[in-house]
Amino acid sequence: MSDAKQDVLTCDDCRNEVAPDDEFCPNCGLVFVDNLKCSNHDDVEASGVCIICCLPFCRKCGGRVNKLFLCGDHEDYEIYEGRARVYGVSDEVTAHFAQECLKNGGLHPFLYSRKANPISGGGPEHTTFRASGEYDGHIINEVKVLVPCQEVLRAEKLLRDLEFKEK
Ligand SMILES: [Zn+2]
Ligand SMILES: [Zn+2]
Ligand SMILES: [Zn+2]
Repeated sequence: MSDAKQDVLTCDDCRNEVAPDDEFCPNCGLVFVDNLKCSNHDDVEASGVCIICCLPFCRKCGGRVNKLFLCGDHEDYEIYEGRARVYGVSDEVTAHFAQECLKNGGLHPFLYSRKANPISGGGPEHTTFRASGEYDGHIINEVKVLVPCQEVLRAEKLLRDLEFKEK
């Protein structure tokens, strides 16, 4: 095998692979080009690109959450390794159905579940620590449907159209 790695460009910040013509890192939102202006303030330089809606924003309109740049509208997403939660439900059948629907819509859904703590005796458990997009108030023992960050808005629309409801 020849060493093809030498042509691979990586983001200065998150070290993820990026394409030569990328204007920003799709993984963390770091801006690679000059003169990219905030979507809300066309006279202010963008400090990052929201990895959910892919729009550039200034420091006032967005910021880094656990190293990922997110705009004010999207800063509350739970994000695990480049995928964001679009739906969560306590029963796996519904979660699998949601996953199928998203797949049929051309998206790349992924299910994430963490076993409930046996001591808790059931009922929703909430995280008590803050790491990788989790914080107080998020339920951890649900089955989460995740999609790549850039598919979030399409996935949510699809689920809304199909009338999936959070339980
Ligand atoms: Zn990056
Ligand atoms: Zn956004
Ligand atoms: Zn702004």
